[in-house]
Amino acid sequence: MNADCLFCKIIAGIIPVKPLYDDAELIAIQDINPQAPLHVLIIPKIHIASLNDLVPEHDALVGSMFRRAADLARPRGYDVRGYRTVFNTGAEAGQSVFHIHLHLLAGRSLAWPPG
Ligand code: 5GP
Ligand code: ZN
Repeated sequence: MNADCLFCKIIAGIIPVKPLYDDAELIAIQDINPQAPLHVLIIPKIHIASLNDLVPEHDALVGSMFRRAADLARPRGYDVRGYRTVFNTGAEAGQSVFHIHLHLLAGRSLAWPPG
């Protein structure tokens, strides 16, 4: 846990949330400022500041994050309609919380390239 990290505080229960999914390694929560009808953040319970800090030991964890996104999208019909999964890394990509999280966005037409 990083005492200055918003997502570590959520994971520690210091900031209460109602998770959509919670297990030993991950939590999935609704984004506080949703950019689509479904906007979920899939967050590992260990503090990793950004994709720049990944090491091979994280490979299974990151795989689980993507599989969790698919498992959250499927029962809502977005496996057919479509969805987007995004990691923002660094300032120009708009990363604002430096604890990795996978955005799952769905429920509207998503432009490409992104803004
Ligand atoms: P980033 O900009 O780092 O890719 O994404 C951070 C996301 O966290 C943003 O989409 C922002 O709306 C969301 N966020 C910021 N603070 C909170 C919070 O306290 N609770 C939740 N659920 N989401 C938050
Ligand atoms: Zn953290």
